[in-house]
Amino acid sequence: MDSQALILKAEQTHCLTEDELLHLLQDDSADEAIFQAADRVRQKYVGNEVHLRALIEFTNICKNNCLYCGLRAQNPCVHRYRMSEDDIVALAQKAVQYGYKTVVLQGGEDPAFTTEKMVSVLQKIKPLGLAITLSLGERLYEDYQAFKAAGADRYLLRIETTDKALYEKYNPAMSFENRLRCLRDLKSLGYEVGTGILVGLPEQSLRSIAKDILFFKDLGADMIGLGPFIPNPQTPLKDAPQPVLEPALKVMALTRLLLPDVNIPATTAMETLAPNGRIKALQSGANVVMPNITEGEERQNYALYPGKAGALDTPLAFRDKLTAKLTEIGRPVSTGYGWHKIKH
Ligand code: SAM
Ligand code: SF4
Repeated sequence: MDSQALILKAEQTHCLTEDELLHLLQDDSADEAIFQAADRVRQKYVGNEVHLRALIEFTNICKNNCLYCGLRAQNPCVHRYRMSEDDIVALAQKAVQYGYKTVVLQGGEDPAFTTEKMVSVLQKIKPLGLAITLSLGERLYEDYQAFKAAGADRYLLRIETTDKALYEKYNPAMSFENRLRCLRDLKSLGYEVGTGILVGLPEQSLRSIAKDILFFKDLGADMIGLGPFIPNPQTPLKDAPQPVLEPALKVMALTRLLLPDVNIPATTAMETLAPNGRIKALQSGANVVMPNITEGEERQNYALYPGKAGALDTPLAFRDKLTAKLTEIGRPVSTGYGWHKIKH
């Protein structure tokens, strides 16, 4: 197979087979051409604007034990916190003052955030005029339905990997089928659904990554968040090889080629691996950034992996720095909600 011909095919038709994707994933010499093609497709389909989503990490308590994650229940080294309803709403109010149009409420699977409690939080935030994204893991259909009715618009739930055996190895006591069920429930309820994977998990094959990208298309995902896996010394995967940025960037760029109009964040994990990782991502297919507006100790204690970029910034300092960098590369900050498909 000829990589240049495949890149052209992807750019023009947005379709590649699993074998074609695998070929491109295996060919390191094609990386730059893939990044450039993804940048053109991004510009053509979603324009130059960058959508900012204010991230509130409202609890680092989690009942699960994902082998890769610093927040796993069995990690005794984490200083655990759970924000009060008032604290969450106060941060959402600050998001409005900072000029954001979307808040993302993200947390571990914390049993204290019952359906009733989440509904109450959502009902207090909705009148602020923000789009609301939730990312709090696996819940029942009825929970997702109640959250939607209370004002949630979008939901982020990464599939992490579509290799079922690997998924269940790294997510003990969780089932791949339930993860899929959640994603389908969210779609059927009318959420804008975000999914994605960790790139660089031990034993993850390039073929499985090719399948992951086709899965995003099959699901009809509205957003795709791709994180390089960064080993955390407080987890069972602590001895995994140190990651580099390029493989995750490449998966992101291929995702843009195949799903030309979806929202794709330049993730914090990408910035953590390389000083300008976020900007490089925005020039290789990404069109979203999720600035963290969590403050103080909580900001540092939401430690999925070591060295998380921006953990020591204040929310305003971060926004100023980001806006300056975006201006330098000719990418304006969007003043809209940044829906996947325009709402009428
Ligand atoms: N608990 C929810 C869930 O798992 O969907 C949301 C919060 S969870 C911390 C958000 C994402 O963090 C996960 O989907 C996972 O991909 C990512 N993550 C966890 N550990 C990581 C690590 N060591 N390196 C990079 N990303 C990681
Ligand atoms: Fe919990 Fe999410 Fe971390 Fe898994 S990835 S341990 S569900 S916070």
